[in-house]
Amino acid sequence: MSTLKAVRGTRDLLPPETSLWNRIEATARQVFARYNFGEIRTPVFEDTSLFARGVGEETDIVSKEMYTWEDRARAQSEKPQSLTLRPENTAGVVRAYIEHKLGETGQLQKLYYIGPQFRRERPQKGRYRQFSQIGAEVIGPPSAGSESPLRDAEVLEMLAALLDALGITGWTLEINSVGSSADRARYNEVLRAALIPVAPQMCGDCQRRAVTNPLRVLDCKVPEDQPIIDALPKITDSLDEASKTHFAAVLAALDAAAVPYTRNHRLVRGLDYYTRTTFEFTHGGLGAQNALLGGGRYDGLSEAIGGPKAPGIGFAMGEDRLVLTLQSLESAPPQVADAYIAPLGESLNPAALALARELRLAGLAIELGDGSFRLKKSFEAADKTARSIVILGEDERASGILTVKNFASGTQTKVPRTELVAFLAK
Ligand code: ATP
Ligand code: MG
Repeated sequence: MSTLKAVRGTRDLLPPETSLWNRIEATARQVFARYNFGEIRTPVFEDTSLFARGVGEETDIVSKEMYTWEDRARAQSEKPQSLTLRPENTAGVVRAYIEHKLGETGQLQKLYYIGPQFRRERPQKGRYRQFSQIGAEVIGPPSAGSESPLRDAEVLEMLAALLDALGITGWTLEINSVGSSADRARYNEVLRAALIPVAPQMCGDCQRRAVTNPLRVLDCKVPEDQPIIDALPKITDSLDEASKTHFAAVLAALDAAAVPYTRNHRLVRGLDYYTRTTFEFTHGGLGAQNALLGGGRYDGLSEAIGGPKAPGIGFAMGEDRLVLTLQSLESAPPQVADAYIAPLGESLNPAALALARELRLAGLAIELGDGSFRLKKSFEAADKTARSIVILGEDERASGILTVKNFASGTQTKVPRTELVAFLAK
């Protein structure tokens, strides 16, 4: 029988790596709390039309990356339904915002999420079919100030603070404005016209995009196409006065907060729902998949999926890529317990469990050995898993004085049981 393996593009996360994942998530939760965000958890699958309408039929995600299936009806009263594993979480959050009438509170909603997303992509380093995103959204009625450029700047400043708190040094923030949906539509036509004479010299993808979705030509990475793309009209020149003023205000607030950024007029982002501010944080340690996170403003998204006017701004960070970046920056210390308890003989196993319980209740990480092991085997196991070994023989049990050996210093010490917690915690 052939052995079963995790499906292509998915993987198991094992200790000690999972402790890095937990640290990243704990840090993100702390930072989000400081900015007064609350957590939202939406379902992992949704009605397919949410993504078709919310993300956009023309995008790579919807046109080729989604895991979609026809869900059979289980009862006469049910209809079969097309369902999709979420490829991103903003559409789900905005659906929930509409469904729970969160706009009627009149307050800005500041929501964050952490969880798996699914895209049928070609697996490679930093690109998986199941991956995890940490994201946040600020959304609300215009009367709550949801359109204010201050919200954009605050989200970007929070991201800078989060990456710093995680210990990710050397990130770059690239920022652009794609204007209102009218600006975008106008620019799309300017671009379409400008591409007619040059498209035949470009790559196959660009020739197709020049017709279907000209904006996406700006994402092209083919080296030969770059001079042609650089000579195309810039979206910055198609922005109306309101969008220009908005963008200038975002940049002024970032300057005031000393958050460094680079303007990139080619940053239009893959999703159809973006308006005005778009941004990406990249990191050199990641190689080809260098985007740590992406985001932007989506003033028309709620209305596009049948909701009230609810401008918003948000981002999604690739947690897998945060892990890769941190691994490239530091050599994570292996996970080790504070102590390994070695009972000398099986008859001492119950006493060893009692001692382990006492030490664990005091907050220490304890590995419990087994009295059927020879002492040499206990020492070898302890050396791999813990900082110290605690010997528990008949004498130790009777006297209440334990023998502790610390592996780093090589010293052996007699420690009274009452002082053991303090000794091991050192
Ligand atoms: P890319 O250009 O890398 O394909 P994207 O524009 O498709 O990114 P977004 O939809 O903006 O990505 O998602 C936000 C972040 O989620 C990305 O910056 C990246 O860190 C992460 N991400 C996206 N797709 C994957 C994937 N297949 N595997 C791992 N992380 C991913
Ligand atoms: Mg992608």
